[in-house]
Amino acid sequence: MTAIDYRGAPVAASRPVAAGRRRLLTASALPLIAAGAFYLVSPPALDTPSVIDLTQVAARAAPIAPAMLPTAQQEATPENVEVTVQRNDTLDRIFRSVGIDNATLAELRTVPDVRKAIDILRPGDIITLTHADGVLQTLNRRISETLTLSVSRATDGFAVNFIENPLEVEVTGARARIESSLFEAGRDAGMSAQTVMVLANEIFGWDIDFALDIREGDEFSALYQRKFQDGEYVSDGRVLAAEFVNQGRTHRAVWFESADGAVRGYFTPEGKGMRKAFLRAPLDFTRISSKFNPTRRHPISGKVRAHRGIDYAAPTGTPIWAAGDGRIEFAGRKGGYGNTVIIDHGRGITTLYAHMSRFGKGSRGGRQVRQGELIGYVGSTGASTGPHLHYEYRVKGVHKNPASIPLPNTEIPTRYATEFRSQAEVMLAQLRLTNGQPSQQLASR
Ligand SMILES: [Zn+2]
Repeated sequence: MTAIDYRGAPVAASRPVAAGRRRLLTASALPLIAAGAFYLVSPPALDTPSVIDLTQVAARAAPIAPAMLPTAQQEATPENVEVTVQRNDTLDRIFRSVGIDNATLAELRTVPDVRKAIDILRPGDIITLTHADGVLQTLNRRISETLTLSVSRATDGFAVNFIENPLEVEVTGARARIESSLFEAGRDAGMSAQTVMVLANEIFGWDIDFALDIREGDEFSALYQRKFQDGEYVSDGRVLAAEFVNQGRTHRAVWFESADGAVRGYFTPEGKGMRKAFLRAPLDFTRISSKFNPTRRHPISGKVRAHRGIDYAAPTGTPIWAAGDGRIEFAGRKGGYGNTVIIDHGRGITTLYAHMSRFGKGSRGGRQVRQGELIGYVGSTGASTGPHLHYEYRVKGVHKNPASIPLPNTEIPTRYATEFRSQAEVMLAQLRLTNGQPSQQLASR
């Protein structure tokens, strides 16, 4: 077995580099070397550590311009290959398909950090390789959003580098006005679809019904992070503060994370949790097919019979979630309700979910469930005219309209009140600036 120099090798030890023929595997091949993605560490120190300190190695890595590389004659033209990992791919299979000797892989695996960095492959990962006649020259693999493994052949073995590619985060504010759709308005204001989803689901989804309540003329703004790498936009980051004016009513929220990490989430400027103790709707529904109505005529019997819940139309198989934390009081067949789950949430509150096609794995009487946990799937069992969820919310045995009852809040614990106020003030002040100006970069950090 050839010894592997963990610290890398002097430049002269590396094979000459030329713009090689490119071969297409599953994605377009990139000119790896020409792109300058070639890094070597300084000549090896005398003491070779058994473990690579990633930060140290990365810090010492310095880019070497292609022009500085040796120009000696070469035996074979290196070939650049970019491989996109497919489901069930292994590195052995990839090496074989490229025509690289499997002994090379065994050799690479003897370096502990390399082994860790190459053995776990996820579909969609990209590995770039160069080889000359099946002899591996370089291997690059993105390990995370900010770290790339770079291996290149050295005199005896391989030079290994972990290249850090940090993200730069800037804070941006944007304001949008809804003309036709929430997502279009967000996009026109420069927000990603992901940021709009966070606004609708995580932040305001508890107070605003995004399926029913959104109107033309509604406005929203957000103070949020944008991530860049090498000066190029990567993705939106966390939403730090946001405002939504829905039918003239203003909702405001701010992100808070306590220094000790114990409290994190979105809160109103007054410190009340945006997340409520109950979900407004316990599923992703297509429409409300029957509202809470104490004097409704029943669709099957034709008699006037109160509809003491809400019917949410959704395709059979749509997941149904526990509306709040609690204990399953009943899970089974229940007359006209069909397959039914009843959850006891304490303080006299129970919720009921009827007509399920089947139950969730954990839906058994006596079991504790968390808010949002899957308890069953939409169906049409019992007295039902089509697939829907019949949902009831009862307080001390009295049916309430789940669409309009005020849902209990959570609050910032008093010992975090000061920390919360100081953080919230800064972000809300920046959000106010955003509201005055359509879109503006507010700060970099
Ligand atoms: Zn119903």
